Amino acid sequence: MNAPTMQGLAIQAPSYVKNAKLIAWVADMAALCKPEAIHWCDGSKEEYERLCQQLVDAGTFKKLNPAKRPNSFLAASDPSDVARVEDRTFICSEKKENAGPTNNWMAPAEMRATLQPLFDGCMKGRTMYVVPFSMGPLGSPIAHIGIELSDSPYVAVNMKIMTRMGKAVYEVLGADGEFVPCVHTVGAPLEAGQKDVTWPCNKTKYIVHYPETREIWSYGSGYGGNALLGKKCFALRIASTMGRDEGWLAEHMLILGVTSPEGKKYHVAAAFPSACGKTNFSMLVPPAGFDGWKVTTIGDDIAWIKPGKDGRMYAINPEAGYFGVAPGTNLKTNPNCLKSLDRDVIFTNVALTDDGDVWWEGLEDDVPGKKLPEHLIDWQGKDWTPQIAKETGAKAAHPNSRFTVAATNNPALDPAWDDPAGVPIDAFIFGGRRSTTVPLVTEGRNWTEGVYMAATMGSETTAAIVGQVGVVRRDPFAMLAFMGYNMSDYFQHWLDLGKKVEASGARQPRIYTTNWFRKGPDGKFVWPGYGENMRVLKWIIDRIEGKAQGVDHVFGVSPRYEDLNWTGLEFSAEQFATVTSIDKAAWEAELKLHAELFQQLAHHLPKELPETKAAIEQRLAA
Ligand code: GDP
Ligand code: PGA
Ligand code: MN
Repeated sequence: MNAPTMQGLAIQAPSYVKNAKLIAWVADMAALCKPEAIHWCDGSKEEYERLCQQLVDAGTFKKLNPAKRPNSFLAASDPSDVARVEDRTFICSEKKENAGPTNNWMAPAEMRATLQPLFDGCMKGRTMYVVPFSMGPLGSPIAHIGIELSDSPYVAVNMKIMTRMGKAVYEVLGADGEFVPCVHTVGAPLEAGQKDVTWPCNKTKYIVHYPETREIWSYGSGYGGNALLGKKCFALRIASTMGRDEGWLAEHMLILGVTSPEGKKYHVAAAFPSACGKTNFSMLVPPAGFDGWKVTTIGDDIAWIKPGKDGRMYAINPEAGYFGVAPGTNLKTNPNCLKSLDRDVIFTNVALTDDGDVWWEGLEDDVPGKKLPEHLIDWQGKDWTPQIAKETGAKAAHPNSRFTVAATNNPALDPAWDDPAGVPIDAFIFGGRRSTTVPLVTEGRNWTEGVYMAATMGSETTAAIVGQVGVVRRDPFAMLAFMGYNMSDYFQHWLDLGKKVEASGARQPRIYTTNWFRKGPDGKFVWPGYGENMRVLKWIIDRIEGKAQGVDHVFGVSPRYEDLNWTGLEFSAEQFATVTSIDKAAWEAELKLHAELFQQLAHHLPKELPETKAAIEQRLAA
């Protein structure tokens, strides 16, 4: 066979790559991006180690002290490249209405014309890594294959942890299997002799999705959410459109298993916006007073959900690792997470200790009064001391600093975490970050009420997104940033799937909203959160079993103080009132925001939603 060539560089695919379409596409992209070399990743341990060493040599990685944290690395990003860039993220469907009013849109032809000159020669002086990956267990009917081309070895090693990455993907792909083509560049070509920086990136950024042709093009950023294209780009934005067409759901949800002392197992999927508690909730350790209860992790960020033969909704986690927020994580808030991070971790933008280990804000909060480290190198390479922090407010770790770690490092990993059949969902939870207004937990009285609560959810923005932090915005289903199509059509899809489950005679999952983040007059969180969220989770399970009481109110059912188990926690009825009160004026204001959202989404908005709103307004006025 004549290997396609570009500029004298033969596109010599390894013999195990049999997919002609893939080889031709790699040749096309190489001709466009003009890399110096092409490396076909095989996903082996040796390759991972080689690339990590290469990143160490380039100064991108620091190897951590192996006596403290074996086989682990710290990367420091460019200070401008630390989070997802929502204003640079585009859904380029042929018709604008199919991207909907919540997405940035550009016509595909116009976007292609815009990207063409940017990608032309963008990989000059760099190696193009061909990264084959499977979202979902390799070869299972529910999984989908992607190939990411990237000029970032940081991306290649992170993809190895986050996905099923490697040679075996080509066997599944065969000669004519389908894959989602994903092209990523840091957008920093190197001229001959030009010295590289440790974190190349470009001020100009484009995170582009073509839902109809199922393609992803990412330019200018090395940050996980913008560059690890299997995750938010593929498994949410592209997959949500696949789900719309094929009758399933791609959701921004953790999946957990919870086993009662009697040995009965339930599965819960929960959607919280970025940096609002998914990873933590998925690894929850039940507190004192919950003897015999056990929580296990199926996934911490993304769920693909399909109706099973019995009519119930089954969820799989398409990922193989966690790309989690470091700050706030400690032995008390999330012991399972901390144990997961003992070894084999890539940290990004946390601080470095003098003995070659990592540190981040909140790590010391496991024991009251524990001392801060005397000296650190902060995420930007500067000296940090408690004194400097006190004077300048400087954070040692970036608030959106992250760890990348394999799911198999998690001591609480559920045995069914990679079962291609998925796990049957008993309850969905939608939770925002709200310092006021929204009560601790509410149960929707029926599917439509649940969908309404999810659709109108508001949350305060976090450091996971470039932009202002702490601004309340509507974040329907925690999917605002991840919807691949029209939001109103998505609401309809949820209503339709609920009806389908009902029609099959199977039990519909119940739908709940939660808010762990109400604050008191002192500006501090009132609800202790983390493991204590088990108290709410148990109420949810007891509701499903018909064993727990609650009060009916304007938009659902919530527990009274006496409906929760308080063993082992001092939490007064007054404190409970602070996190559960429903203030009439605040809710009148909130409903105005729902109205604004519905106005924005008026095109195709399912009529059930304004009807539900009218009923709430009536109850609120009464
Ligand atoms: P994710 O991005 O949705 O997975 O969110 P994480 O679980 O990583 O949490 C994001 C941030 O919120 C971290 O700093 C956590 O420490 C913090 N967090 C998570 N759960 C809780 C909670 O129940 N209460 C409070 N107060 N903070 C939480
Ligand atoms: P997350 O998002 O905060 O929901 O984990 C990760 C990302 O920024 O891509
Ligand atoms: Mn997370």
